[in-house]
Amino acid sequence: MKDPGATMCADIMPAMRMPSSIAAVLVALIAACSPAPSDGDSEERAPASADRRPHIVLIVCDTLRADHLDLHGYARSTAPLLRGWASTGMVYDEATAPSNWTRPSIQSLFTGRHPIADQIFHPGDRWRTDVHWLPELLQEAGYETVAATANLFLGADFGGSRGFDRHVHTEFDRAQPGHWKHLIAAEGLLTDLEGALTAPPLDDDRPVFLYVHLMEPHIPYDPPAEYRSWCPPDYDGPFDGRGAAFGALKGDNVDERLAAGDREQLIGLYDGEIRRMDDQLQRLRKMVAKHLGGRDVLTVLTADHGEAFGEGPSNRYTHGWGMGPELLHVPLVVHDGREHGRVSARVGLVDIFTTLMETADAELPDDIDGLPLRDAQRGREYVSYKALPGATALSGQLAVLRDDLRAERHDDGTWGLFRTDTGEDVTEVYPRVLRDMIRSSTRWARASRERLPDPEAGRESNSAGGDLFEKLKALGYADEVTDESAGDEQGDDVDTEPKPEQPEPGHDG
Ligand SMILES: [Zn+2]
Repeated sequence: MKDPGATMCADIMPAMRMPSSIAAVLVALIAACSPAPSDGDSEERAPASADRRPHIVLIVCDTLRADHLDLHGYARSTAPLLRGWASTGMVYDEATAPSNWTRPSIQSLFTGRHPIADQIFHPGDRWRTDVHWLPELLQEAGYETVAATANLFLGADFGGSRGFDRHVHTEFDRAQPGHWKHLIAAEGLLTDLEGALTAPPLDDDRPVFLYVHLMEPHIPYDPPAEYRSWCPPDYDGPFDGRGAAFGALKGDNVDERLAAGDREQLIGLYDGEIRRMDDQLQRLRKMVAKHLGGRDVLTVLTADHGEAFGEGPSNRYTHGWGMGPELLHVPLVVHDGREHGRVSARVGLVDIFTTLMETADAELPDDIDGLPLRDAQRGREYVSYKALPGATALSGQLAVLRDDLRAERHDDGTWGLFRTDTGEDVTEVYPRVLRDMIRSSTRWARASRERLPDPEAGRESNSAGGDLFEKLKALGYADEVTDESAGDEQGDDVDTEPKPEQPEPGHDG
């Protein structure tokens, strides 16, 4: 079976083929008018000279949780410019991140597949090249591809330049116990991008795919003074924006180690970073309007995952751990200058892949999970998966999200069912629904084996050299790097049925 989503989604897939009776009439007409035989089964495509495909701009705001945007009802006006722009586009109120950290989420965005299909991500590895990749597919479809990225995973050392004709990337040199966030801030990145968009000049005859990956909301939160109005005015603790201080946020029960005012300070800094990014997003929109002319522009803005501030029973901060809404509920705005409104049905980053491929009139791979965003409707399921070493397809943190429910598998293999709006534990209320969602996760695990029979075969180590560990550590991945070096037992045994996930329900709901 090539498409694990087909089983579940067949009943909601739109009818794509014309009725056979109409097709037969068309075949007859074509045969009568043309001396050349026609199979009657292929659609005419517009010739290249009439290429009216739009420019595509895809913006990922790393670590941006949806509920900290005034666009989604947040009390602070963290992104007023984004809210104004989004009011003239389509806002998806329930967009699902494929994972709680960057790499599996970006892999899903660029492949249209749930992350479980691409197995485990060792943080020090390059992106595997044996799977299709959105920038490369758009490049092959005739787009001029440009990237501006500030996350080290999107750098050339990791193979992040794959498929891009022009690739602008910023990184900090080393993790220093000081203020280094400015080294990966959007201010400098967008200046570099403008240079890349103008020298050499873009080809007017080709549409452009522009990918922008911004890092403002990621630790260390260190906005300039003008963006710190939400911080406690008399705060004099360790969280002043220096990178080293954020190491204290690792592990469980973080609040026990924080002093009074620390959490408020952290959230104030985080919100300030969003406000700072909002200004830069406005600058980016002006840049696009100035340099990407001659055609319509389709812009998609989203995030790879959110950020935690102690939510959930483990009281964790930052990201890379947990499957709660603070990590999996991300913003999604699609702006084409025409349609506007809000969509309440759940969608996912895998759907962005499909939407952009269709926009580019590019041929879709036949083994993807994403559907066009315009087909968003209730009943769709999305898998989110941690996908770090130590997990397998049938163990480790994973969630299945459907409508207003989240089935969550914990580290110990037990499952729970939660309402996504209130967080209420409804494990005992809807046991049959939970069992059904667990079966969905098992289907995807099986499909993973068929898609990548040997998940280790495509592994290739990063080429960054000596300071890679320090860079990963500065972004909060030191533990996982240590785990990786400890062993290689990451293969998934998808023939094993899940452990008993929960007690037999006493009543159904
Ligand atoms: Zn990220």
